[in-house]
Amino acid sequence: MIRDEDRPQLRSTMFLIGAEELGGLVTIEAAMPAIEQAMRDLSQDEYIAPQRWTMALDRTAKMGFMPGALPSVGQFGIKVLSLFDAASRGDLPSHQGVMLLFDMNDGRPLCALDAAALTSLRTAAATAIATRALARPDSETLAIIGCGDLAQPHLAAMKSILPLRRVFIWNRTRERAEWFAEHHGKDMDVILCDTPADTVRDADVVCTLTSARAPILSGEDFRPGQHINLVGSSVAEAREVDGATIARSRYFVDSRSHALSQAGELRDAIERGLLGEDHISGEIGEVLTGRVGGRQNAEETTIYKSLGHVVQDLAVANLAYTAAIGLPAMPPPQTVRQTFPLPRPGPFVAG
Ligand code: NDP
Repeated sequence: MIRDEDRPQLRSTMFLIGAEELGGLVTIEAAMPAIEQAMRDLSQDEYIAPQRWTMALDRTAKMGFMPGALPSVGQFGIKVLSLFDAASRGDLPSHQGVMLLFDMNDGRPLCALDAAALTSLRTAAATAIATRALARPDSETLAIIGCGDLAQPHLAAMKSILPLRRVFIWNRTRERAEWFAEHHGKDMDVILCDTPADTVRDADVVCTLTSARAPILSGEDFRPGQHINLVGSSVAEAREVDGATIARSRYFVDSRSHALSQAGELRDAIERGLLGEDHISGEIGEVLTGRVGGRQNAEETTIYKSLGHVVQDLAVANLAYTAAIGLPAMPPPQTVRQTFPLPRPGPFVAG
């Protein structure tokens, strides 16, 4: 949020915030309260955004578009992504692109940010918020399934909120898991596992962070009391776990409407008749505002399905921008002052 007294000097300034700069401007700990407020805003309809959509370039490459506005930070913008299957194989981020941020009062463009770094940071911060709300607070063991770009920020985020003493790691290509353990697991007890099932068996909290198209974990791999963050494979055609995992868990989402249209595991379980749309216990923002109860007891298995949302991008982009121009971050407002009517989110436009 930009204060009125700071506006004139910013009239003609537009920043470019690259990946490294973003890391220096916003820590995972700083991102978390901003994401928490954004998730509350989302569940209280204090945002404007159509559902994201994609445009196919060919069979293996898409452009993705995520526009939105977040009145609580006074900004609107769009994240434009290139989603190329070949990118990861060539050692490029899975979500390359640019986030454009604008001032909601006068429409000025404020900055452009590296979308890959922004996406990793905001996704991990959102997972941490959900984990803090749903996992057993005494969770000491973590499973990381998939050691791509999302793994390091997720490990950092989980370390910041849980009393972790052990991390189990699996990656399809074992060398990548070894590299990850060597570079990011120095200060903790890290165990490399041979299969996804071995990885989750003794973990209190699980983060699945892969691009798997078909389930790599099934219901019998999990045990009661675990909290599972399903973060990877965030498109309708892909699933990281099977329907039994969803059916036997209390299932929370970042956005109900996104989950119904784009959460592969949920859609598949509904299509197979395993459960209905009412299996969604609530949005994480509803848990945070107290409208919906979170974990009921230590034996319950909880799931947080993360698809990612533009309100998360806006919240963290705002933090980066205010830090870049040297303004103190404003505390999140307790109530949102609405100065204009918010239209309902528009229809899904398939690309
Ligand atoms: P990366 O490309 O950096 O890593 C992909 C990971 O998935 C690698 O560990 C890769 O293993 C693994 N993988 C790919 N295919 C399979 C498979 N069939 N079975 C098991 N593992 C597989 O991607 P990111 O870390 O950036 O993103 C991971 C996933 O998360 C993507 O699907 C992405 O779309 C999704 N995502 C979700 C977000 C959200 O908000 N929920 C935000 C950003 C991304 P290997 O090393 O062997 O190739």
